[in-house]
Amino acid sequence: MSDFACKECHLLLQENNCPRCVDSEISREWQGFVEVLNPEKSEIAKEMGIKTPGRYALRVR
Ligand SMILES: [Zn+2]
Repeated sequence: MSDFACKECHLLLQENNCPRCVDSEISREWQGFVEVLNPEKSEIAKEMGIKTPGRYALRVR
């Protein structure tokens, strides 16, 4: 399980930095996640503005 989530793109991370966002804030305080396999066909991905497959936290504090 991932320990960290990016506050910028909500991507779940194993490490304390996000490969997609430069200088983004990383949080350990996140709740729930969604696995997006096909962003074009996923309603939640559209709602969250996700364009790349991956695991994303639903809420990041
Ligand atoms: Zn990010």
